[in-house]
Amino acid sequence: QSKSVQAQEKIRTICSYCGVGCNLEVSVKNNEILSIRAPNDAKVNAGHTCLKGRYAWRFYNHPDRLTSPLVRKNGQLVEVSWQEAYQVIADRFNLTKSEYGPDAIAGISSARCTNEENYLMQKFMRVVIGTNNIDSCARVCHSPTAYGMQQAFGTGAATNSVEDLDYTKLIMVIGANPIAAHPVTGAKIKQKLMKGVTSIVIDPVETEIARYATYHLQLRPGTNVAVLNMMAYFIIEAGLVDQSFIENRSEGWSDYVAAIKALDIAHLEQVSGVDRELVKQAAEAYARSEAAMSFHGLGVTEHSQGSHTVMSIADLAMMTGNIGRRGVGVNPLRGQNNVQGAADMGCQPHQGAGYFPVNVQANQDYYREKYGVEVPTEIGYKIPQMYQAAQEGKLKALWIMGEDIAQSDPNHHYVIDSLSKLDFLVVQEIFLSETAKLADVVLPGASFLEKSGTFTNGERRIQAVRQVVSPVGGAKSDGQIVVDIMRAMGYQQADYDPAVMLQEISQIVPFFAGVKWDELGDSGKQWPVLPDGTDTQILHSESFKRGLGKFHYFDWRETNEVKSHAEEYPFILTTSRNLEHYNAGTMTRRTGNRDIVGEDILLINPKDAQQKNLKSEQHVRLFSARGEVKLKAQISKKVKPGILYTTFHFPEFMVNNITSSECDSETLCPEYKVVAVDVEAA
Ligand code: SF4
Repeated sequence: QSKSVQAQEKIRTICSYCGVGCNLEVSVKNNEILSIRAPNDAKVNAGHTCLKGRYAWRFYNHPDRLTSPLVRKNGQLVEVSWQEAYQVIADRFNLTKSEYGPDAIAGISSARCTNEENYLMQKFMRVVIGTNNIDSCARVCHSPTAYGMQQAFGTGAATNSVEDLDYTKLIMVIGANPIAAHPVTGAKIKQKLMKGVTSIVIDPVETEIARYATYHLQLRPGTNVAVLNMMAYFIIEAGLVDQSFIENRSEGWSDYVAAIKALDIAHLEQVSGVDRELVKQAAEAYARSEAAMSFHGLGVTEHSQGSHTVMSIADLAMMTGNIGRRGVGVNPLRGQNNVQGAADMGCQPHQGAGYFPVNVQANQDYYREKYGVEVPTEIGYKIPQMYQAAQEGKLKALWIMGEDIAQSDPNHHYVIDSLSKLDFLVVQEIFLSETAKLADVVLPGASFLEKSGTFTNGERRIQAVRQVVSPVGGAKSDGQIVVDIMRAMGYQQADYDPAVMLQEISQIVPFFAGVKWDELGDSGKQWPVLPDGTDTQILHSESFKRGLGKFHYFDWRETNEVKSHAEEYPFILTTSRNLEHYNAGTMTRRTGNRDIVGEDILLINPKDAQQKNLKSEQHVRLFSARGEVKLKAQISKKVKPGILYTTFHFPEFMVNNITSSECDSETLCPEYKVVAVDVEAA
């Protein structure tokens, strides 16, 4: 923590925003950051960054940074010493545990933090507290990807690498706007499209990528499964399946194909709003391509059928043999820098580090032997279940590391109400976020520029994050904070050191077996990393982790949100991100990007604007069964009639006032993408 660079130096580290994981070269002198540039030899970004990464250093020493622990006294958060804060936390956790048991305590870890910090956080909850109540923001983004791909292939991670774009013949982008949310990968995809690579974009919004697409299937939000089932139907009808792959590498085909053949295509065409002929052309192009590569984002996962959609994408890949070689596969575009890593490290309530289910005896024996203590055996709470448990008085204490759930989770009022029912809330943050404002104890963490560790990007690449400057004020690395609290509660854990932590992780997580801090270099390694250090670019080349790949068929289902509210709230709102800002905007609102985009804007089709008598730049009231927000409208043909679109970057607009608590049926990932609303002049 005492690093202080005096002479001018250039230090290579990794961007802490999106899952592309760009390599950054930071110039520093006298412990002050001068600039960030993208190294030309960086494997991931080869001389490129987006404006978020290039100006990321501007937030690290912003005057709003938290620099001291705070404890609530007489209703006010007041500065205290680290020792006092640790004592309060240890006393309250011990008291809660003895009065209500370990399952009355929960933790939410952070995809913004390093693998080693996430590993420590889940270890704290499981080993020191004795509960599996540990989750992370993967719950609200790609948990359906992890679940769906595990069901289909056995491994919940990207099958290929972004550099496979150089080998692919067809690119399919589903529910993703990579130009805005994953700009460096988005630019690579756009270049391929501009050079004439055949492409399919499945998105309710006419994104920039959609404008370049060969086929844009502009579906109604909430109908991904309907469109993917139609594609499967037309591929099978045209006899374009890869029979050899199906026979040798998969199971479940005969049931699947029978269900697909029985589909009512006219019905699916009507509910999705996509012309069947266009779907047929896109499906046949996908199946006829020598190498088709799919990318998907939160427009796939943040739906009540999110997991079903992921498995439907896997079905298409398997039936056409687009798995296990260059330029193909199923590739989730991970939203946060280390959301892959947070799950790999076990920050989820049903699987520990390395994805071993926690409720299986053999795995409990494994973890017991590794940790040297008894481990909890019941599956813990997912984040939405934590809110429910708080409402029911079963959850009493919550520790949130680097996650602003009060702004980013859906149905804002319900989240706030649930947090208010806790006896004790600890929030570890770099700024006094909307969530931190509600805490009993606030702990100042260090930003990515002030600590070392590893992030795992969306293509399974474990990369070294290297400390550039010392933490501001009295802040500490999140890993050291977890270690200190472990010790305050009587558990002896070595100081936070990525090299030492990686050694421990490599003993527990099989696909990290050969990961060593000193051998990561500038390009990192893609897991699984074998004990001899060899890494893996393409998964499932010879066989799947589960043996055979599995086909799954799902009927398309209308979402409860539309079924319950469409009469009163006839528009469907879908939410997304823009290029200038990152999620809740905690960092990008403090890097100057606010001068470029300073508010969330509502897009509305000209026909709807005319019917509602609305004009561009006019303020409108947008309301749902949960609440309302006021936004500026912009009339745009990027959305079809009946569909509205906005972002959620600014707390003053609090778009999550109106989103619902509907969730993916398998993982409880919130359904941000389909919100029944109405709109009127403000
Ligand atoms: Fe950072 Fe993503 Fe931009 Fe790269 S593309 S600089 S990782 S935000």
